[in-house]
Amino acid sequence: MNPARPTRRHLLKTAMAGAAGAVLGAPVRGLLGAPAQITSLSRQSPEGDGGSLQRLNDDLFVIRIPGEANVVAHTRADGVLLVDSASAAASDALMKAVAALPGAGPVHTLFNTHWHPEQTGANELLGKAGKTIIAHENTRLWLTTDIIWPWNEKRFKRLPKIAQPNKTFYTTGQIDADVRYGHIPDAAHTDGDLYVYFAKQNVLVVGDAVSGAGWPVVDYTTGGWIGGMVGALQRLQTLANAETRVVPGRGPVLGLADLKAQYTMYATIYERLTTLLNKGRGPGEAVAAKPTKEFDDKMGSSDEFVRRAFESLWGYLSPDA
Ligand SMILES: [Zn+2]
Repeated sequence: MNPARPTRRHLLKTAMAGAAGAVLGAPVRGLLGAPAQITSLSRQSPEGDGGSLQRLNDDLFVIRIPGEANVVAHTRADGVLLVDSASAAASDALMKAVAALPGAGPVHTLFNTHWHPEQTGANELLGKAGKTIIAHENTRLWLTTDIIWPWNEKRFKRLPKIAQPNKTFYTTGQIDADVRYGHIPDAAHTDGDLYVYFAKQNVLVVGDAVSGAGWPVVDYTTGGWIGGMVGALQRLQTLANAETRVVPGRGPVLGLADLKAQYTMYATIYERLTTLLNKGRGPGEAVAAKPTKEFDDKMGSSDEFVRRAFESLWGYLSPDA
């Protein structure tokens, strides 16, 4: 069904090889941005919805609308480039926030870091307006089909053609030398995860391939798995330097040290879960074994995450023996 979907053997190798497939050279050492400035969006939106705007640079911002995933906006003379677009319910609030940005113009390009509705809510609006929507080819394919999550029966309807990404790629691409993007082939969150790297600002936007807010969803229905999370965290470190600011799909802006800490944590959990799988254990037993115990104080209850992460192994690994 999905010709671009790599085999599990390939993915396992990729996860193990980690950074071997890194696609960018050493990022340009960027200007250190001014300290994070977070201002309320309510000055711009009369509803006072509690959203916020974080300035990463003169021309690069994180827009946060309550309950929504992070949106990154890059303003240029020719208009605004967005990385992700929140959910459809938030489109009005998002467009208001974009219009109020310093130096704002019309949106010309939208990146979908992956297919989830929390990222693709403005696709229809922007697609109808004839704007460029860039995504990995796997993301486009998922958006052409209805999807059901088996663990909670949640249903996702395919997007109309006009809302689907209209510019796709397989490995890497660039808008210009300063805005480069690429596939994160480890399948951390889905098999179509992408990053966007803003070289001048030294900002790496990674969508839900990295979680900045608690335990992530492991969407194994569309290829994500815990081995991929480990591989992606290793790979993304090779795209960043000590000053790089990393914008995850949710939560605060992270740095290289956070990627390293997360890598260590998820690699530990991955080891434990594969050991349990190889002993023939099931998801309930994996939860009972508390494979995240030393991280739970900081991260919160992990039962859902452990269950999904364990189930995600089924698609990629067969027990030894
Ligand atoms: Zn997601």
